[in-house]
Amino acid sequence: LDVVRAVEPRVADAIGAEIEDQRASLKLIASENYASPAVLLAMGNWLSDKYAEGTVGRRFYAGCRNVDTVESLAAEHARALFGAQHAYVQPHSGIDANLVAFWAVLSQRVESPALRRAEARHVNDLSEQEWAELRAELGNQRMLGMSLDTGGHLTHGFRPNISGKMFEQRSYGTDPATGLIDYDALRATAREFRPLILVAGYSAYPRLVNFRLMREIADEVGATLMVDMAHFAGLVAGKVLTGDFDPVPHAQIVTTTTHKSLRGPRGGMVLCDDALAEHVDRGCPMVLGGPLPHVMAAKAVAFAEARRPEFQDYARRVVDNAQALAEGLLRRGATLVTGGTDNHLVLADVSGYGLTGRQAEAALLDSGIVTNRNAVPQDPNGAWYTSGVRIGTPALTTRGLGTAEMDEVAELIDTVLRGTTARVSGGGEPSKAQYELDPALCEAIARRGADL
Ligand code: PLP
Repeated sequence: LDVVRAVEPRVADAIGAEIEDQRASLKLIASENYASPAVLLAMGNWLSDKYAEGTVGRRFYAGCRNVDTVESLAAEHARALFGAQHAYVQPHSGIDANLVAFWAVLSQRVESPALRRAEARHVNDLSEQEWAELRAELGNQRMLGMSLDTGGHLTHGFRPNISGKMFEQRSYGTDPATGLIDYDALRATAREFRPLILVAGYSAYPRLVNFRLMREIADEVGATLMVDMAHFAGLVAGKVLTGDFDPVPHAQIVTTTTHKSLRGPRGGMVLCDDALAEHVDRGCPMVLGGPLPHVMAAKAVAFAEARRPEFQDYARRVVDNAQALAEGLLRRGATLVTGGTDNHLVLADVSGYGLTGRQAEAALLDSGIVTNRNAVPQDPNGAWYTSGVRIGTPALTTRGLGTAEMDEVAELIDTVLRGTTARVSGGGEPSKAQYELDPALCEAIARRGADL
């Protein structure tokens, strides 16, 4: 840090403070983890200085042999790790990976002369007239994805994301009685809507998804099955999700982030079958800017780590820990969506504590417990205040916490939520944002958390 401090000490201070914060708190955000020093170091080096648009061996820039090496290695490790025919490791993030995948499916499936022209040139070179033709030919394509309030992601066709403007979208959800994906309703919607793309995958669903069944439904209606495994890629890599629950053998195209349960650098990736490979490889420059060679190097290191037997043990412990946390919370009277978990996350409905998700998230943070608020199905408090908190175990499992500690974490969470009350306004209305919590309790909980 001294090298950074000599140039801009405030940045060095922020980096140092971040390390302190991460050490002192209980990181339970389901999408976060701790990358290894090998991954971090592979990311912070001179590879960052290279431009390398194109693909391995076919670059638009000279001098890319070292970038070719790291990109090939990352792709090779990814293919072996996931048993995929093709891996494209350039996407800078999960959103970018999804855009590459959407574009690839459009490019493969939609007969469009304007698209062929666009692919042959740089998108910036298209005239207004050509863009209009492209929009007309590609427009009105349909996407069916999991609804946001039952755990889907913004990029699966929702308005706040470009995918919601690119596609006519419809959602499938969960059975209100069980909280589980209702495959019969999903099949009926797919038959009626006939989407080009059926998207499976989630950000906040605590159960397994049957990808074999999803593919069956997709085939029946002529859709391409795309699975966004951003959240659970580590569980696939670690062979906890196998058979019907491993998306790779079932989906034509699979996208992921590399920084969540997979424990790599911040970034994205697309896996696909051979038929889609040439379309996916056009991601840069069609959708992406120049690749980040230093991040591809770090992906290669992370995937090599994930191919070791220890990673399978890690993935198993992530799920054991989530189940121990779920049991600990349930035993103390908490309400969990679906009543438990099969994966790395728990979705607690905190309305039983008289709180919104926003109040619960803030009170937990005051006590050194970092979670994030999340809508629950049919949430009466909407997407901003919400009624839930999402709690995940990938990061604390990396730190070595086990099931006994998870029970203690459940105790800490329950104690904070019981000790927090919604502030009541002059008119007698409970606030959705303000709350009361004894600072001494916060301090005691934070101390105990830091000890763990
Ligand atoms: N897909 C899913 C399922 C996600 O949960 C997320 C991020 O939370 C993304 C995509 C987007 O990833 P990124 O933030 O890297 O763009």
